Amino acid sequence: MPSCVGEFDWIERIRRRAAALQSDHVLTGIGDDCAILRFDRDVLVTTDAAHEDIHFRFAWSDPADVGFRAVAAAVSDISAMGGEAAALFWSLGIPRGLDESVMDGLIDGVIQGLAAAGLALAGGNISASRSGVTLTMSVLGQRLPGGVMLRSAARPGDRIAVTGSIGASRYVLEELSGAAPSPVVTPPELAARFWRPPVRLKEGQTLVKMGVRAAIDLSDGLLQDLHHLCAASDAGARVDAERLPVDPALIRAGGDERARRCALIGGDDYELLCALPPDFDLTQWPGPAPLTVIGAFTEGDSSIMVLHHGRRRPEWETLGGHDHLKARGGPDGTT
Ligand SMILES: [Mg+2]
Repeated sequence: MPSCVGEFDWIERIRRRAAALQSDHVLTGIGDDCAILRFDRDVLVTTDAAHEDIHFRFAWSDPADVGFRAVAAAVSDISAMGGEAAALFWSLGIPRGLDESVMDGLIDGVIQGLAAAGLALAGGNISASRSGVTLTMSVLGQRLPGGVMLRSAARPGDRIAVTGSIGASRYVLEELSGAAPSPVVTPPELAARFWRPPVRLKEGQTLVKMGVRAAIDLSDGLLQDLHHLCAASDAGARVDAERLPVDPALIRAGGDERARRCALIGGDDYELLCALPPDFDLTQWPGPAPLTVIGAFTEGDSSIMVLHHGRRRPEWETLGGHDHLKARGGPDGTT
């Protein structure tokens, strides 16, 4: 039913539900005009917004999944730098009279996302919007003593590696957009991969400790994000498509070709893509997510060559990733 709960009542409900999430970095959280945070080292800050009908649709999405994904997407940028996450600020725009169960679902998902990332909710804001729900997540963290990973630090000869598995999010998005608004049947393990993105904070920190200095998170698609790394590092790249860590369930559902295409262009996987220096010992990788070598950085002008069992696949090289301002919804962006 439409909510008649006011702004301050919602803030109080959120505060009570988030109270169990604690962080040594948050000295004073919700309830004062500012949060008071304490850090020992350089601070990492990132912010990320999710808009209804641009990034998600309630016709397709459970509100709790929308909340969880918004947290996971923002935290992913801290993972990409190999940092420790400390606190999250949640700003929320909601239309007047938004169904109370939707709001409760969003809060559920945000709390679950915070718990998955080991984060405290340090503050935020609620305001009315003219149309649609907007969630803006700002995450603060700190760098490890060993350093951070940057997009500009890959070198020709470094191996390209990716955590976890990739491609499922694109597959689910294609299924959703092709069949909406009627329900679609997607293997549950793939759907879960899409709605509940992984938190790779631990993996990012381990990469830093093992001497990795260049990484990016996969939010716009492997080829797109690899291009960002190449451009910032002034290097080229070669991807061996047969080595892409594609979920076997994705190959079963969509076939090998489609699975690899999804892995190359699919955004929203929120895995880490990184450059392993020559002395990186892959046998020492502790996980928990696997780390898979998929190619190498080369001398070059940020162009990417895609091979499949040694054969060049130019039709895959020209597949674009996601551009937020060029995309027009559907499989290019709206979930
Ligand atoms: Mg990012």
